[in-house]
Amino acid sequence: MLEETRRFKCAECGHEFELSSKDKDLKCPECKNKILFLLEGESMKKNSCSS
Ligand SMILES: [Zn+2]
Repeated sequence: MLEETRRFKCAECGHEFELSSKDKDLKCPECKNKILFLLEGESMKKNSCSS
């Protein structure tokens, strides 16, 4: 069973961590902040197609 992970960085404390793409509760495990930067992985939005 393939489980994709996305890598996030917390905007508050700078902690980097990975979450499953199935995980809908996106928050920092360190400080519980919900403002995160997506570093790697599939973005939520798929409507950007520039060519
Ligand atoms: Zn944090």
